[in-house]
Amino acid sequence: MAKLYFHFSTMNAGKSTVLLQASHNYHERGMQTYLLTARFDNRAGQGRIASRIGIGADADTFDASDDLFEKIQNRVAQGEIACVFLDEAQFLTEKQVWQLARAVDDLGVPVMCYGLRVDFRGKLFPGSAALLALADEMREVRTICHCGKKATMVVRQNADGQALREGAQVQIGGNETYLSLCRRHWREAVGDTA
Ligand SMILES: [Zn+2]
Repeated sequence: MAKLYFHFSTMNAGKSTVLLQASHNYHERGMQTYLLTARFDNRAGQGRIASRIGIGADADTFDASDDLFEKIQNRVAQGEIACVFLDEAQFLTEKQVWQLARAVDDLGVPVMCYGLRVDFRGKLFPGSAALLALADEMREVRTICHCGKKATMVVRQNADGQALREGAQVQIGGNETYLSLCRRHWREAVGDTA
């Protein structure tokens, strides 16, 4: 039975590494996979999934305007695939998560989504909220805070290392950096609002 999976994590947990390893395992057995990642400019087509430990693979890309059921259906028509791997799943729309669910149910293709659970304000990303609601199986890709506890939160820091409270959920090409922390240390960095 094909399933819709959601592998969630905070920043810098190595989710792209886990994705690339899982895809590689299929290739080793002579099976094909279909890789997708988010695109942030208007050029459709080739993207790349890269991990911080130096491995990477070419991938097709999606943005909010794409019908992902159609994309997967078109890919399947070109040749059998064992699994779809989708990175940056936090950027999916709710509608696209339903399209992925339809691909799983109606085309019988497993879809593995990898993405961040919450943004730097501690709010769910829309794609992650929909996946938490609709996925058949969920797994956490874990990393740790500087204190050794599991990191579940992320802070966005400016160039001076100050934690930011406000700003766009998606920030491309700024000087900000991200740090993954446990909730207690996130509260210390960001400050309590309640
Ligand atoms: Zn901590």
